[in-house]
Amino acid sequence: YTSLRGKAAVVTGGGSGMGRAAALHLAKQGVKVCLVDLKKDDLLAVKEEIESSGSEAIVAEADVSNPSELKQAFIQAASEFNQLDIVYANAGINGTVAPIEDLKPEEWDETLSTNLKSTFLTVKCAIPHMKKNGGSIILTSSINGNRVFSNFGMSAYSSSKAAQVAFGKMAALELANYNIRVNVICPGAIETNIGENTHPKEDQLEKVEIPVEYPEGNQPLEERSGKPEQVADLVCFLASDASSHITGTEMFIDGAESLL
Ligand code: NAD
Repeated sequence: YTSLRGKAAVVTGGGSGMGRAAALHLAKQGVKVCLVDLKKDDLLAVKEEIESSGSEAIVAEADVSNPSELKQAFIQAASEFNQLDIVYANAGINGTVAPIEDLKPEEWDETLSTNLKSTFLTVKCAIPHMKKNGGSIILTSSINGNRVFSNFGMSAYSSSKAAQVAFGKMAALELANYNIRVNVICPGAIETNIGENTHPKEDQLEKVEIPVEYPEGNQPLEERSGKPEQVADLVCFLASDASSHITGTEMFIDGAESLL
């Protein structure tokens, strides 16, 4: 997309998975990228990958659920690049996997705060830097909470992911005045490191009867999980002027997994 050349982006969760892949794809198309993540080593590794291909990247170690850390990351990006055109609000966790009767309030809060509050904060932090020239904001939700309800033990995750879609639509309406587009991506199972951030309570999960077998890794289109790079292609499309009339949508990218 030639319209991406010379643009500047913030990518949260940029140290791994879909955030990393999107950052690499955007950089390849001439976008300067500010990578935001909790994990410094991962951030530096992705920065190096981007720089070795001749593109520009900076890193900001920040917790996306922490208002002041995130605000600082945006100030850093805007002052380094003198502009901000694209924001990919993508950082997230599976959180604790447990039946509702065993899920602790603080475990619920951790998932909602990391996935949902962070989305609000990311969009909020982006507005002052984007309202003059407009731009594109992309959120990563999930098919879980929007089409798929068979992941037992993931009530907090599914709730956060469903609410991200509602928030994205409200943001699209509010920010249309500033020519800022907001779209939500709902991936199916994608091969990333997200499992490392999951805390299943297997003994507790045995208590709930799972009536549907979740077809993980069994997507009709390719008979496997999707790749982060396939999601990154969609991020680039939504970031570019090729999608200039698309805002307020949710896009499923799941190889028809959610139709099973
Ligand atoms: P991942 O674990 O590979 O990457 C997520 C990144 O977010 C990690 O680098 C992690 O350090 C970072 N992160 C987590 N909490 C953070 C915080 N508080 N502050 C800053 N950074 C934080 O996982 P992924 O699969 O690439 O996940 C990206 C998004 O995709 C998440 O929102 C996830 O819910 C969503 N998603 C994933 C799948 C899947 O199957 N992998 C499917 C649908 C949606």
